[in-house]
Amino acid sequence: MYKKTREVRVGSVCIGGDSRVSIQSMTSTKTTDIEKTVNQIKQLYTAGADLVRVAVPSPAALDAFSAIRKQISKPLIADIHFDYKLALGALRQGADKVRINPGNIKDWSKVKLIIDEAQKSQAAIRIGVNSGSLESGLKRKYGGPTIEALVESAINHNNMFLDYGFDNFVVSIKSSRVKTTIAANRLFAQASDTPLHLGVTEAGTPNLGEVKAAIGIGSLLNDGIGDTFRVTLTADPVVEVALALKICKALGLRKEGLEIISCPTCGRTHSDLISIVNEVEQKTKHIKTPLTVAIMGCVVNGPGEAEEADLGLALGKGRAALFRNGKVIRTIEEEDYVQILLQEIANMAAKNN
Ligand code: SF4
Repeated sequence: MYKKTREVRVGSVCIGGDSRVSIQSMTSTKTTDIEKTVNQIKQLYTAGADLVRVAVPSPAALDAFSAIRKQISKPLIADIHFDYKLALGALRQGADKVRINPGNIKDWSKVKLIIDEAQKSQAAIRIGVNSGSLESGLKRKYGGPTIEALVESAINHNNMFLDYGFDNFVVSIKSSRVKTTIAANRLFAQASDTPLHLGVTEAGTPNLGEVKAAIGIGSLLNDGIGDTFRVTLTADPVVEVALALKICKALGLRKEGLEIISCPTCGRTHSDLISIVNEVEQKTKHIKTPLTVAIMGCVVNGPGEAEEADLGLALGKGRAALFRNGKVIRTIEEEDYVQILLQEIANMAAKNN
């Protein structure tokens, strides 16, 4: 099921509508360290982020945000908790979007002031519903941050914003539990055309966090649910962006660079396939042209996969068949596998560029 949502504008980036799924990340520097924060924002954009968020937890951070804004031309999102005045300040300093958890601000009259300011500056808002900051009334009603409680909170706020006449907002429903995140977002998507920002919150270190993000976010994106997402890891945020790009690539949402199709090897493999694949992957990292390259260990699945790819190498005993666009173009001796395949990849990348 592909769910088309309404379009929300965040500076030069659109979320929802017909836009591509955008990748977000957040700085981990102290916002008051302007130089470090600006550098990290630039690193995240260079790594492939579409949107970067900065924490604004204090008046000093707000002053820094103002200085940072002047040095960054790409969209900038301010992350606000508890103090509505910081949200107002960030919007006045040029934030393209503010993320607020209404459960943390509590007072609807204050949230309305934030909406008014966002409307005035043509900025967006993210309504963040997190299992860790759910309204106490809903927790009591459902006995905890259950799927139903999270969705009810999201729908309540979604409707309050719409009833107030503001629709340039997205919603996120996050839990550190993968299954809860998936179920809650699926339920919300059935009920609303508001764009969804996906994430498995507090997913931990890359060790398990990468798997949680890939399953949680990947399952929803594969359902056609989700317009933007952030992988959250206890790690350098550049790692988050790298994983986000891999999730998009695995699902065919971004086509850039090589997608290598290779087998796990087994007792039928006659060459050191793992080294061959690693070398090809390393030496083609710079290529941006989308290409599928199959490197397969034997005749069981090798010719079939090689035929389906743009380029394919189906290994045999000391020799391999090289495929281009589904046809065998030559046979290669073992010592030439890597060099000739790299040459073919370079030629095809240049031709398709
Ligand atoms: S393609 Fe051949 S070598 Fe590779 S895992 Fe399958 S059977 Fe084994």
